[in-house]
Amino acid sequence: MTFEALGLHASVLKALTESGYTAPTSVQEQAVPAAIAGRDLLVSSQTGSGKTAAFMLPALHKFALAGDAPLTDAGRTANQEAQSARSRGERPRFKAAQPKMLVLTPTRELALQVTTATDKYGSFMRRVKAVSILGGMPYPKQMQLLAKNPEILVATPGRLIDHMESGKIDFSQLEILVLDEADRMLDMGFIDDIEKIVAATPASRQTMLFSATLDGVVGNMAQRITKDPMVIQIAGSTNKHENIQQRVHFVDDLSHKNRLLDHILRDETMDQAVVFTATKRDADTIADRLNIAGFAAAALHGDMHQGARNRTLDSMRRGQVRVLVATDVAARGIDVPAITHVVNYDLPKFPEDYVHRIGRTGRAGRNGLAISLVNHAEGMNVKRIERFTKQLIPVDVIEGFEPKRTASAARPSHKPGGWKPGDARSAAPGKSAPRTFSKPGAAPRREGSSFNKGPRTGDTGARRSFSDR
Ligand code: ADP
Ligand code: MG
Repeated sequence: MTFEALGLHASVLKALTESGYTAPTSVQEQAVPAAIAGRDLLVSSQTGSGKTAAFMLPALHKFALAGDAPLTDAGRTANQEAQSARSRGERPRFKAAQPKMLVLTPTRELALQVTTATDKYGSFMRRVKAVSILGGMPYPKQMQLLAKNPEILVATPGRLIDHMESGKIDFSQLEILVLDEADRMLDMGFIDDIEKIVAATPASRQTMLFSATLDGVVGNMAQRITKDPMVIQIAGSTNKHENIQQRVHFVDDLSHKNRLLDHILRDETMDQAVVFTATKRDADTIADRLNIAGFAAAALHGDMHQGARNRTLDSMRRGQVRVLVATDVAARGIDVPAITHVVNYDLPKFPEDYVHRIGRTGRAGRNGLAISLVNHAEGMNVKRIERFTKQLIPVDVIEGFEPKRTASAARPSHKPGGWKPGDARSAAPGKSAPRTFSKPGAAPRREGSSFNKGPRTGDTGARRSFSDR
């Protein structure tokens, strides 16, 4: 299948060639023609499968066909009014922006990522502007962006509501509404904001909803806000992430964990890595320690100002930062193809987050390695993740880094396929990889670096609070 065969406009095709995309991914193959035909879509497919282009390409195609997004009549009138006000020497009244497309995303990083992708896919269109409206960005800057009356708004729900309530945005001309990572937005408590935003848009709009799952609360909302949607489900959770190798390493204590982390990050196949921690403070501390140990490391979490977060992500993209130490909140939108390793320094609180974390590697069809460093007491949490993904995560032991307790002793009663048939997610237990207790060859014993000598002793499970992620 080619992009041409999907019926996309020449200017969009040109941008895709320029981007080095040779063929559509499966989700694009299904979503693009349906979206071009004007259908509402409900889509679930794994992270890294190219969902952004799946909704943005048909939208850009539509704008290109409509004559490269001319100003709406209302927008034109607004401009004329402003001009004549100026010629009368009056200060023109601020006219509300009238976007034609709105993309809602759970986090700022994801919104910026979508905006960047839109700029890329729309680079051969004369005047399609995409603008991000985000919490944490100064209001005057956002007012300037909105005053340009952009065709496409990419926004996090909270800040968007602020602008709507102060009359800065008018959705009467909206044609396309996209909810990206809808499940995550609901997890983050945005349901009321979303309902309010949707209610402000015309009923005639086209709606596309993307979510890891389409049942439960998300499915409920999806039903309410879409009309006769086409449902596209690319991969069940059983065959997710086939290009990502997953492993669990059991650790005895914090110093063991730090030594292992150091070892993993010195792996010669490691290009760039993301290390996930449970708390912002640990993200900072570990990034500092890794820097002292000679890694080009940086922290990324929700306490950092937006500018600092953007700079860090840019350095990561440029390869200046090799190890990013991040919390879940900050990590959602990271899309850097050179990330070969994801390390869970702490396990995530929710199994869903595990899936999102490991999806930071193995982007765009590459292979990735996802390693979880787990205390012996956390076996249950690993089980919860395995139940959720319907995959067993092989336990691995590296020579020279063996835990004092054996892996089998740590998880005595685990049976493959042990989830209950009544479990909503488990119509049939997936084919699981056989559990291995392998020791990968090549790992020579090495003396610990300065990084190994962390100040803490004892393990962290009980002490840590997840609430300050
Ligand atoms: P998702 O939203 O499904 O997690 P993204 O839209 O963020 O995935 O895309 C993941 C990566 O794949 C991005 O780096 C994107 O540039 C790349 N990509 C998307 N579509 C294609 C394609 N057809 N060919 C090659 N790379 C692609
Ligand atoms: Mg996405």
